[in-house]
Amino acid sequence: SLTIGIVGLPNVGKSTLFNALTKNDVLAANYPFATIEPNIGVVGVPDPRLAELAKVFGSQRRLPATVDFVDIAGIVRGASEGEGLGNKFLANIRESDAICQVIRAFKDENVVHVDGKVSPKSDIETIDTELILADLQTVEKVLPRLQKEARIKKHRLPVVKAVEEAKAILEDGRTLFSAGIAQGTERAEPLHELHLLTVKPFLYVFNVDEDELVDEVFKDEQRALVAPAEAVFLNAKLEADLAELSEEDALELLQSVGQQEPGLATLARVGFETLGLQTYLTAGPKEARAWTIPKGATAPEAAGVIHTDFQKGFIKAEVISYDDLIATGSIAEARAQGKARIEGKDYVMRDGDVVEFRFNV
Ligand code: GDP
Repeated sequence: SLTIGIVGLPNVGKSTLFNALTKNDVLAANYPFATIEPNIGVVGVPDPRLAELAKVFGSQRRLPATVDFVDIAGIVRGASEGEGLGNKFLANIRESDAICQVIRAFKDENVVHVDGKVSPKSDIETIDTELILADLQTVEKVLPRLQKEARIKKHRLPVVKAVEEAKAILEDGRTLFSAGIAQGTERAEPLHELHLLTVKPFLYVFNVDEDELVDEVFKDEQRALVAPAEAVFLNAKLEADLAELSEEDALELLQSVGQQEPGLATLARVGFETLGLQTYLTAGPKEARAWTIPKGATAPEAAGVIHTDFQKGFIKAEVISYDDLIATGSIAEARAQGKARIEGKDYVMRDGDVVEFRFNV
């Protein structure tokens, strides 16, 4: 499954946040015997539709979609120079599908900042610079070979052009993602073979003081720093406390600091979105469940997420939109009102489809 790598300077609250993530582990709650690697935190994507579906179907349990966060230790200035830890750090980022930067905004004189001052802007620049330099090295290394190759193989010219364009952006001190060349877009396609870091989607977690959680002016300033990437604001210590509390007590604590939901829930939702994922739903007496698929997935691909045999033997899917199902109150009534559609193998799934697959075994 897709993963989001968590990076950040030392002492910004990564471990605190990651501990909260792992305590919140939905895998541990739902699959007590699953093996979970120590550096991976699995967080449920909050989905109020599951509770509604569970009512309609009398489902015993609810299984939300999940997002995997990987703790990538050890960004150090000079990581791009490829020494020891730096190499490992870059390799771990290369394996992630999105990059989540944790940025310190909280002011606490007892917690030393590596650069002696709390400045989100300069911290972001420090991390971006390492990633940009690493990409620049990759680009500078392959470009001469590509240019030579393209003199004979003309079909390689678009790759050369894309790499030259990427080089100019990186030399300008910008990530490719911020320049609109994001993984999954057409512009990033010719660069695929280079496995660059800064084409990955970025997202930012600002570890803020409690009063900053409700400071809209402050938050807008930070959002402007990182656009087009998304920004999530949370207090890592508060998240760690929340993870220890009952749902009721957690809600009370959240309300006392003017929040509707835990920051981790927001992070899971934004992370899911950043990875370009969506869900479809299944429900029955056993469970109401959200399944994860990439945006644009077809019905057989969606079936394959449940079981590869479902994809191989796919015949058709009965699809009811979540809204229609809730409005009619049951599958039988949705069918009676003509709201249940039979879809074939070319059907492109939509978020919130409630599905039952028919397949050969
Ligand atoms: P890491 O080096 O990025 O993993 O940072 P840690 O999670 O180890 O946190 C470094 C220090 O900052 C620890 O003493 C934490 O207790 C403290 N810390 C983490 N988050 C917060 C926060 O939101 N507010 C305050 N005041 N301190 C925090």
